[in-house]
Amino acid sequence: MTYDDNNIFAKILRGEIPCKKIYEDEYVLSFHDVNPQKKIHALVIPKGKYINLDDFNKNASEKEIVGLMKGISIVSKKLGISSEVAHGYRTLSNISEHGGQEVPHLHFHIFGGESVGKMVQ
Ligand code: 5GP
Repeated sequence: MTYDDNNIFAKILRGEIPCKKIYEDEYVLSFHDVNPQKKIHALVIPKGKYINLDDFNKNASEKEIVGLMKGISIVSKKLGISSEVAHGYRTLSNISEHGGQEVPHLHFHIFGGESVGKMVQ
């Protein structure tokens, strides 16, 4: 599978589609999910063109990998749900077909602001 430059998150990264931005740095962009499943539902995406976590871990640089992992914690702090300052959150990434991935640009969901319930339903 090759990366689709026309996926919705690629368009958001290029500024062609608006988003409610939470945080941005050299490695990541974070914004609110358009269809929130919990009180807080954010997305954290790498700036590089990676389809999913397997593609990312195979092809991204160490700096990009660290940047994305740290980005999740930075965003959780910005949202006030970090375990350092509040009650925590859930992060997950859907990978390909059986994972239920809809947008083919790697993203981590962040759910919080309330108890998010069972891990898999
Ligand atoms: P996936 O199922 O691929 O793990 O999650 C894709 C997520 O992207 C969904 O939660 C969906 O609501 C969100 N999404 C899809 N299109 C847009 C959009 O245009 N803007 C934003 N902010 N989120 C989107």
